[in-house]
Amino acid sequence: EEDRLLLEGDELGDLEAGAGAALPVLAIVGRPNVGKSALVNRILGRRAAVVEDTPGVTRDRVTYRGEWDGRPFTLVDTGGWEPDASGLDAAVAAQAEVAVELADAVLFVVDAIVGATASDEQVVRMLRATNKPVRLVANKVDDVRQEAYIGELWGLGLGEPWAVSALHGRGVADLLDEVMRMLPKESNVAKPEVGGPRRVALVGRPNVGKSSLLNKSAREDRVVVSDVAGTTRDPVDEQIEIAGTVWRFVDTAGIRRRTHLSQGADFYASLRTQAALERAEVAVVLFDVTQPISEADIRIVDMVLESGRSLVLAFNKWDLIDDERRRYLEREIEQDLAHVSWAPRVNISALTGRHLERLVPALTAALDGWDTRIPTGKFNAFIAELTAAHPHPVRGGKQPRILFGTQAGSRPPTFVLFTTGFLDPQYRRFVQRRLREVYGFVGTPIVVNMRVRE
Ligand code: GDP
Repeated sequence: EEDRLLLEGDELGDLEAGAGAALPVLAIVGRPNVGKSALVNRILGRRAAVVEDTPGVTRDRVTYRGEWDGRPFTLVDTGGWEPDASGLDAAVAAQAEVAVELADAVLFVVDAIVGATASDEQVVRMLRATNKPVRLVANKVDDVRQEAYIGELWGLGLGEPWAVSALHGRGVADLLDEVMRMLPKESNVAKPEVGGPRRVALVGRPNVGKSSLLNKSAREDRVVVSDVAGTTRDPVDEQIEIAGTVWRFVDTAGIRRRTHLSQGADFYASLRTQAALERAEVAVVLFDVTQPISEADIRIVDMVLESGRSLVLAFNKWDLIDDERRRYLEREIEQDLAHVSWAPRVNISALTGRHLERLVPALTAALDGWDTRIPTGKFNAFIAELTAAHPHPVRGGKQPRILFGTQAGSRPPTFVLFTTGFLDPQYRRFVQRRLREVYGFVGTPIVVNMRVRE
């Protein structure tokens, strides 16, 4: 019954991770009617969460900010699960599984009076296999008489049951003390919330016009704060206003400092690009339209894709282009950049300032795509429609089915499909294509991971 992980990209945890620190994440999982929402309300100290659980796997994860003993944390309520109408046990725990992966610690809630049911089984197995700290919470232990019920819960193999009454608050303080011991100071899985101007990496081969573009923008528009020191002494950012919007261009010192290394220049340039991408949210890849699109250009585009950042393509030195070159460039773009046909394109001149303001809608669109979250219900309606119209072809007498899907993260949008077998690469590409047709995802890579259930 082991889950086999088929990842096209990184592990989910890596994708959700980022620079800086985020609050630790506590996930609360459990079936409907075990009193999960009451516990969430009790922990949050208010009656904000909906206390009526809606059964069904498609309810979304709901995120709250909690605090105990002066330590803030993120609380994720996962919605309950029950086998769906067709009794698909394989799919029912999917939501909980994703939530556990994106959490630093987990509370598994059962109804002490009812005990663990058959539909808890799959989740219990998954929880026993995870390396995340898990505590078993036996709810509805309203007074000492009900403590007799919790004995048999030891049999779940999740350690000592923590008896609580979410309704009356009994045992909850002790449980929260324990939660504080389970949670790391900073999340190992969540991305930090970052405020301020959005971070742009300006990348491209030498001489495509990166420093000219910075100079032109900084001259024509106001430099809000220049030379804002980054985390280390070397990378220096600049906040630059373009057409009324402030952007934080990362590692501009690296662009401005002309290093003429005869040996290893490419290597250092690619390290620099890598470092800039790590700190950025969106990359502008600059091309010199007077030059043919080269392998070096494409390598840089592929570095952006691998980094998972959103992407804008800027064709510079447009003041020098003639009709013939322009036609040829169109063909080159079609051939060499077909894999990023979803990226916004702008034709600019860093020299004259032509169309620099068009970078703003392009960057905005790319970041919007990158930030997109599709609610689980909508996503599964999309999957249902897609698989009804285009079922996976039969392979060796078997037909892999998609049981359930969920968006595990954004930045970039990352989806997990729970399937009954390996999906053909063509079929996976088809799903990605349809996702783009339906939801746009302008300017962002998307990641579709699969989990095969035997
Ligand atoms: P970087 O290495 O990418 O930072 O490129 P630079 O900004 O140093 O530009 C390289 C050369 O291209 C310089 O001589 C610039 O003046 C020139 N250049 C940059 N942008 C343009 C442009 O839009 N039009 C023209 N005609 N020349 C440009």
